[in-house]
Formats: sequence, structure tokens, C-alpha cells
Amino acid sequence: KFDRTPLIAGNWKMNMDHVQAITLLQKLEWTLSDARHDFSRVEVAVFPPFTDLRGVQTLVQGDDLKVAYGGQDLSQHDSGAYTGDISGQFLARLGCRYVLVGHSERRTIHGETDEVLNAKVQAAYRHGLVPVLCVGEGLEVRQAGNHVQHTLAQVRADLEGLPADQVDRLVIAYEPVWAIGTGEVAGPADAQEMCAAIRAEIAALYGDGVAAGVRLLYGGSVKAANAAAILNERDVDGVLVGGASLDVAEFANIVRFEH
Ligand code: PEP
Repeated sequence: KFDRTPLIAGNWKMNMDHVQAITLLQKLEWTLSDARHDFSRVEVAVFPPFTDLRGVQTLVQGDDLKVAYGGQDLSQHDSGAYTGDISGQFLARLGCRYVLVGHSERRTIHGETDEVLNAKVQAAYRHGLVPVLCVGEGLEVRQAGNHVQHTLAQVRADLEGLPADQVDRLVIAYEPVWAIGTGEVAGPADAQEMCAAIRAEIAALYGDGVAAGVRLLYGGSVKAANAAAILNERDVDGVLVGGASLDVAEFANIVRFEH
């Protein structure tokens, strides 16, 4: 089914200091290399805290056929008086391939609006980073049956003004907020429904060719036990894993979902 390379991504959130990060990543690389994992067939990426990225870079040493990595956020600005913020330029210099944009924890805890997230998506592209744009509805919106409409409105607002040649490398993660860290997982059919709707929206905005290239991930309480069924859905091209990405054996089993 995969005409797009599946992407299995781990969001470590605010876990793992720079020493723990090295241990975790080394174990992951050993586990996957023991299993003769083919990184060109199923791509693997991790999103460690900013302070871990230099160590991760040293460990991975820019080898394209290994674990890719990225930041969990970036500033919409390139440099200047923005205390505590991290420029996409810095992430690119550290060998990041990806950057998360608009994770629900950023939207809710840090009040990031679609306007800010649109600027962050543009900042990511300015520095050659591929944004992994996170979208998805909360429980009330889901219960009211407005989840598709709500999520597509986020997609439109966050991508506003982007040219088609940027959008075709984009990754979008559908993460229903009610399923994040709750043990509550959307069913494969729910993941497929939303990913198909997002792909149709991208096709309407940018054409079928672009829509066929965009990778769409599902995120929300993904574990080895439920990953394969979700990944078998036609429009789901990968998963974004929070809690389970901190457990090497569990995460490696998600990466090896076909086995
Ligand atoms: C996430 O943080 O992106 C996520 C999906 O978390 P979890 O897998 O723990 O629900």
C-alpha cells in the first residue's frame, strides 16, 4: 500500500536529559540494527528536548540511513530579542530534518494560535526543515461531530500562503487531543476518516500530485499492539508516538509493525 515512505516518529516531550537521551537512542539503534531494519523502507525519527540535540547529532552523525531527528518547536523568528526561543536556523545547523509545529500541548499550554503556527511553518521552510504539523480536535468538538470541519480549518489556517512546492514535503500529524496520553486511542477507521479528509483538502488547495506526496500520521496513545491496524489504513502514512517512544522495545516494535 505504501507509495509514500512510512514515518514512525517519537515525541519524547520534556523527558530525557542529554545523558539519558544518548542511552535511549543508542539502545534504539542497536535494537533496530539487530533486527536489520531498513531505514530507507520505514523512516524513523525522534523529537528530543532541545538540550539533547547536540548529543543526538554527534551520535547519529548525519547518516541519512539512520534515525532522523528534529526539534519539538521552533520560533517564527530567525534571531533577535526572543528570550528562551529557538530559531529554525539553529535546528538546521544541528542536522535536524524535521520540526514539530503546533503540537496540542503547544496550542493549549502556550496558547499558540493558527496565525503563529502559520508563521512557524514558514520559518521551518526558510531553514530547510520539514514541518510535522500537528492538528486535531478536543473531546467536545468530537462529541459534537465537528471534528473533520475543525481539523480541516486548522490545516487551512496553518498552511495559508504556502506555495505548492513547499507543501509537497510536508508531514501532517492528526492527533485527536482526547487520545493523547490518555490511553484512549482513535480506531483505525477514525484515523483513516480524518487522514482521507486532510488529503482531499490538500488536493483541493494544491492539486492531486501534491496531495499524493504529503505524508499523514496518526498520533494518540499508539502502542505496538495497535500500530499495525492503524498503519494498514490507506491514507495513514505513519504514526507520531508520545509515551511509548520512551520504551525502546515498544517503540522498536512499532517501527517493525509489518513483522
Ligand atoms: C504525542 O504527544 O504526540 C502523543 C501522541 O502522545 P501519546 O502517544 O503519549 O498519546
